[in-house]
Amino acid sequence: MDKGKVILISGPSGVGKGTVVKEIVKDQNYVLSVSVTTRNPREGEIDGVSYFFTTKEDFLKRIENHLMLEYAQYNGNFYGTPKDYVEQTVAQGKNIILEIEVQGVEQVKKLIPEAVSIFIMPDKAGVIEHRLRKRGTEDEQTIQNRLKIALNEMKQAHKYDYIVINGELEKCIDDIKSVINAEQYKKDNMLDFVKGVLENDEKTLCQ
Ligand code: 5GP
Repeated sequence: MDKGKVILISGPSGVGKGTVVKEIVKDQNYVLSVSVTTRNPREGEIDGVSYFFTTKEDFLKRIENHLMLEYAQYNGNFYGTPKDYVEQTVAQGKNIILEIEVQGVEQVKKLIPEAVSIFIMPDKAGVIEHRLRKRGTEDEQTIQNRLKIALNEMKQAHKYDYIVINGELEKCIDDIKSVINAEQYKKDNMLDFVKGVLENDEKTLCQ
């Protein structure tokens, strides 16, 4: 069985990554990785579904025990991807989506160079601030911090394999799926197939 793909999705806070990713994983071929974090749950977030919420001590222990595929600090909190689940999912031939920030993407790319990284951009300036304020889940200081981080994140969009725009949700989802589908036709993924056909045809020719 072919291994599944690791898909890394990032974007500035408020760009709507969460919604995009939730829609993509409605497709049975895609699974979402649930991260571990030390930040407090927001209203409506469920432990084990949105994140595995934990303490700093526990998080550091997980790092020490090599249980994390990658981890980073973001706005004063730790976030990381449990290694086991990613490995098990791709071994089952399913694609796994990691919705993580740029430091995590760089770490995963070093470990799994064939992972596909996608950066989601807002369609115009001002959208991020508007969405963060509309969400109403953060205080002013947190909004200011997240805006600064968001600008920094957009400056790093060039580090990704693909940049997709989230103007209209449906189009953004289709674009991401197209990018993921196109990956399988990269020559590195196709050359074994070509070799198989060639070998058979050459055998026939020699007879
Ligand atoms: P939030 O607090 O808004 O849920 O997430 C803050 C940032 O952390 C987002 O950019 C999100 O993509 C990122 N993030 C969530 N989980 C992980 C993770 O496991 N690893 C890394 N590196 N970043 C993560």
